[in-house]
Amino acid sequence: MATSTYLRRMHQRRIIETVARCGSVSRSDLARATGMSQPTVSRIVDQLRSEHILAESPDEIQPGDNGSAKTAAILGRPSTRLELDRTRPRFGVVQLGVRHTRMAILPVAVPFEDRWDHEFQTPASVDAWLGQLTKAWKPHRNKRLHTVVSLPGVVDEDTGKVYLSPNVRWLEKTDLRDALSDIFGAELLFKQEIRLLALGHLAAEPESGDFLLVDSGSGVGGAAMIGGDLFSGSVPLAGEIGHDAVPGNERRCGCGAVGCLETLISRPGLIASAAEHAEAKTWPALIEFLTGRPMPRWMKLTLGSAAVDIAGALNVLGLRQVVLTGAFHELPPACIDYLSNCVREHAMWARFGEITLRTAPRRRQAGMVSVALDRMFID
Ligand SMILES: [Zn+2]
Repeated sequence: MATSTYLRRMHQRRIIETVARCGSVSRSDLARATGMSQPTVSRIVDQLRSEHILAESPDEIQPGDNGSAKTAAILGRPSTRLELDRTRPRFGVVQLGVRHTRMAILPVAVPFEDRWDHEFQTPASVDAWLGQLTKAWKPHRNKRLHTVVSLPGVVDEDTGKVYLSPNVRWLEKTDLRDALSDIFGAELLFKQEIRLLALGHLAAEPESGDFLLVDSGSGVGGAAMIGGDLFSGSVPLAGEIGHDAVPGNERRCGCGAVGCLETLISRPGLIASAAEHAEAKTWPALIEFLTGRPMPRWMKLTLGSAAVDIAGALNVLGLRQVVLTGAFHELPPACIDYLSNCVREHAMWARFGEITLRTAPRRRQAGMVSVALDRMFID
């Protein structure tokens, strides 16, 4: 890529990042925040508006708003605020979930919550899955949308190869890039689903700083945000906290090992433990059982095991914040308090400073939009 083109894209990305972080800003706010000159900001903003990436915000500039209105008047611009475009379709996003496949068409504005346009049960064969996707995508086929596909399991994001997906076995034998390029075109990105959740959390809360995200659902996974970037290993596998072994746990895991944390603290794992103790057989019944009564011993042991692994990750990576999503977000506060106290017992930083754990909703689409924007402006 030519240097000038690269620089222009970098400037555009900085403007977009600032608008994404602030929600709605004036041109002079942008100049101040990015350190670029007013004329440079105006030129880039005009370009991004013509590409329908930025749009005028309905927010009015208030009197005393850092002189934005005055500056805008001097430059002959209307005193409008800018935001990421909320209307024009730019991205196609597909979540291949263990139970459901979901699809949405999104603009560049970072979505606050996930809303899906299409949803169908993930079928038992690749041909049936591709058939359903083709049908759902038909109205969007010629719109040249960038597409992000969220994949479960152990995923090589560069190639779309899925090494391990215990709950969707056909994925391991499928060349996804070939099959999906035929449907979505060449602008296709693959991302592991838990990593997308971490990117989504950062996009929705840009001031979060570094954190370890741990999600519990059909399985359990983690992703670490370090220095504003996702931590990646030297193999296409990282953050697999769900497959840390818990001594004494004899449950067989879908990964082929015995004793993985996932078999205890995933949603099915928790339900299985509750059923073994004749306390609940479904997730809503379990939540009701755990609410407003002393925590059963098996739950304390389960949370204690999760805490050891979470604290281990914090110690190894040098992190002090944990974001818990998925099933964690639905557990009663007493469970999260217990988990937090156990983590603090084993996290070394707790002896010198603060360790924070909090639950948050899954923000998958925010992660998908963030990945797609990065691809448009960086790669
Ligand atoms: Zn496992």
